[in-house]
Amino acid sequence: MEKISVGILGATGMVGQNYIKLLKDHPWFDVKYLAASPKSAGKKYFEAVTGRWVMDEEIPEGVRDTVVHDARDITRAKNECAFVFSSVEMDKQAIREIEDEYAAADIPVVSNNSAHRGTADVPVLIPEINPDHVDMIPIQQKNHGWKKGFVVVKPNCSLQSYMAPIDALRKAGFSVSRAIVTTLQAVSGAGYPGCASIDLIDNVIPFINGEEEKSEKEPLKIFGKIENRKFVDDDSIRISAHCNRVPVIDGHSACVSLEFADKRPSLSEIKAIWSQYRCEPQRLELPFAPHHPIVYRDEADRPQPRKDRNVEKGMAVTVGRLRECNVFDCRFVGLSHNTVRGAAGGGILNAELLKAKGYI
Ligand code: NAP
Repeated sequence: MEKISVGILGATGMVGQNYIKLLKDHPWFDVKYLAASPKSAGKKYFEAVTGRWVMDEEIPEGVRDTVVHDARDITRAKNECAFVFSSVEMDKQAIREIEDEYAAADIPVVSNNSAHRGTADVPVLIPEINPDHVDMIPIQQKNHGWKKGFVVVKPNCSLQSYMAPIDALRKAGFSVSRAIVTTLQAVSGAGYPGCASIDLIDNVIPFINGEEEKSEKEPLKIFGKIENRKFVDDDSIRISAHCNRVPVIDGHSACVSLEFADKRPSLSEIKAIWSQYRCEPQRLELPFAPHHPIVYRDEADRPQPRKDRNVEKGMAVTVGRLRECNVFDCRFVGLSHNTVRGAAGGGILNAELLKAKGYI
């Protein structure tokens, strides 16, 4: 099979570097176009990331000498790639504009940015949970007069540690009415160089700008449905989030308490539901789909970021510490790899779903 040429906007950043690492040897996609800010434009990739390549492997040979372009150079992108992953860090309005310009130029955009998550006709995808939301793409294209281009986004990285466990319970017929979520989020979530080390070593920062709002709001769209050509938020669940930055390199943890609307499953039923959770990406055998999207650990002291973030190549959620809750019905700890499942790996899985559904 001939591979599809892809571009990465924001290729020099933390998420962009993860795309480059994860797309090496991808069976369907081949990285052909790299773009970043005017500051990096014109440089070879290895020159543009000198002193800030933070991956634990060398830059792949096929990308090392590739010249980075200005992300505004859409004509060049059009000649070199069939779609782009977008992970630029800019003003939100500027991100919406640039992503729309790519879509208008017939280049689908698979985005990691929050800029378009609230846009009425843009799907926020977690392929295990709402693959049917891709049905909004033809509506979006009609709304804008776009032919082949469109924009889809992935949600905030903090959500991944608790969305699949809640989704599994909902799909098994147990309605979750309230959730209290306390996240412990890794430094890599803030990009490079991120937080100053002097602020974070020996410390916890109990505030991440905008993160609690995203953690509470984005799940409602993801659990929602398409009605009359619009997304309608799910109004059956309410989430309260506390988001903290902790001195961990990779891996966002979430301590979660859940209340069920009516009937509640036993703890052993919950574990069985999580272990049997299989969805569209697993049925379609997408290359980046974890075989087990939720992995349960029985040990009292798991999950831990260092030990569990790379389970299923960083694409699974590891869950543990399931127990009764004195206030709600049950509680647990979830963990996911924020720059893999929560960023580049999640974007790649979205693109694989879109290819399997014939959109790219
Ligand atoms: P980052 O490390 O700061 O990288 C930012 C990227 O954006 C760089 O490639 C940078 O290029 C590029 N950029 C900056 N200004 C630009 C401009 N005017 N035009 C074109 N490109 C420009 O940030 P990151 O952590 O990779 O995050 C990127 C996006 O993904 C953000 O929206 C973030 O919220 C989102 N995200 C991050 C994570 C995570 O875990 N880190 C998870 C999910 C989503 P230069 O190198 O040339 O400056």
